Amino acid sequence: MDFRFTPEQEAFRQEIRDFLQEVLPSSKAVAEDAWLLGFDRAFSKKMASRGWIGLTWPRQYGGQGRSYLDRLILTEELLRHGAPVAAHWLGDRQMGPSILRYGSEAQKAAFLPGIVSGDLVFCIGMSEPGAGSDLAGLQTRAMQQGDEFVLHGQKIWTSFAHQADYCYLVARTTPEGPKHKGISEFLVDMKTPGITIKPIVDMTGAHHFNEVFFDDVRIPQEALVGEKDRGWYQIASQLDYERSGIERLMSNYALMDAIRRHVRDTGRDRSEVVRHRLAQLHIEFTMGKLMIYRVAWLLTQGVVPNAESAAAKAYCTEFEQRLAQAASELMGGYGQLLPGSPCAPLDGRVARAYLYAPAYTIQGGTSAILRNIMATRGLGLPV
Ligand SMILES: Cc1cc2nc3c(=O)[nH]c(=O)nc-3n(C[C@H](O)[C@H](O)[C@H](O)COP(=O)(O)OP(=O)(O)OC[C@H]3O[C@@H](n4cnc5c(N)ncnc54)[C@H](O)[C@@H]3O)c2cc1C
Repeated sequence: MDFRFTPEQEAFRQEIRDFLQEVLPSSKAVAEDAWLLGFDRAFSKKMASRGWIGLTWPRQYGGQGRSYLDRLILTEELLRHGAPVAAHWLGDRQMGPSILRYGSEAQKAAFLPGIVSGDLVFCIGMSEPGAGSDLAGLQTRAMQQGDEFVLHGQKIWTSFAHQADYCYLVARTTPEGPKHKGISEFLVDMKTPGITIKPIVDMTGAHHFNEVFFDDVRIPQEALVGEKDRGWYQIASQLDYERSGIERLMSNYALMDAIRRHVRDTGRDRSEVVRHRLAQLHIEFTMGKLMIYRVAWLLTQGVVPNAESAAAKAYCTEFEQRLAQAASELMGGYGQLLPGSPCAPLDGRVARAYLYAPAYTIQGGTSAILRNIMATRGLGLPV
């Protein structure tokens, strides 16, 4: 077995580092959660000019036809350096691949160029107040009337809805019958009349997700992605893509680095307890990285990872929580001071990370749901 990267992969990693050094002044870097909080359309345009959005997509659709490992190297470096990638993140990671797989040729022509050029921002309209883990219980309706669908309902926790050009919406198209059937996916222009967006501010004081209300919203039938009423089966594989990226492991990478430096600079690394704690974090981080690389490797083999993806997401996001907990304990009482407080170590990043950490094991599927997937689909245990 050879765990080294090829010379081409190493050269690509260096190319990304050089690019970031050139275009990303440290003042613009977003230390933690850059893929959710670093929203910067101009930066996305710069990425696009290098061909780094849609990296794995076929060339005929504006992609580069590169491997999933190359994409992993790219995302790893972007997150390591706090690059503000949020504007293109969902389109690149999820919506583009979904359109490639299920969209019509007209949809591919209409949307993929805008994603690879860094112009189109997407949000994902899945969760509802009564339907999160149990997504099949969703109530938002899209009823066909002639050559239109008419939307009524509410979504919640919709990241970037207030900045997005399009929503990748999941709605019920046939109310009768089993709840997994009768669900469809749509590409909804966020400027369509009847859409109301209300911000939700999280515990850290940040606003990136929202409630979205659809009241008599009329969209053309061309907005339907794939087959009507077959959306449930499309969603399952889209979530496998969503779950397994390195953002599940590296949202707090800069914090881990900063803690290591802080402990060294203050001489606290003389304590064996502190050294062990940091070593343990490093071991767990490395384990998580191997799991995520395995998922990317499976993708390069043409396998859609399912239980592997669930295991990687559950392990890595729980690691992120342990990291935030350890950071808080290593900093002692001062670590609880929020950004902006005088004397807050590392500008309050420790407290912010601690407050944000519960979100990691909820977004993209809770750990309990992921364990169900590992048990049933991975280990073949009875449902
Ligand atoms: C930061 C963040 C960003 C998000 N962004 C988006 C977004 O952009 N678009 C979007 O659509 N959604 C988004 N979400 C919503 C997210 O997908 C849901 O919160 C998640 O799927 C859980 O659903 P819920 O909140 O309804 O919790 P519930 O499903 O009500 O779960 C509550 C608890 O019950 C447990 N539970 C539920 N069912 C089972 C079961 N069958 N077995 C065992 N335990 C179970 C869960 O593990 C959890 O602990 C985001 C969430 C967060 C935190």
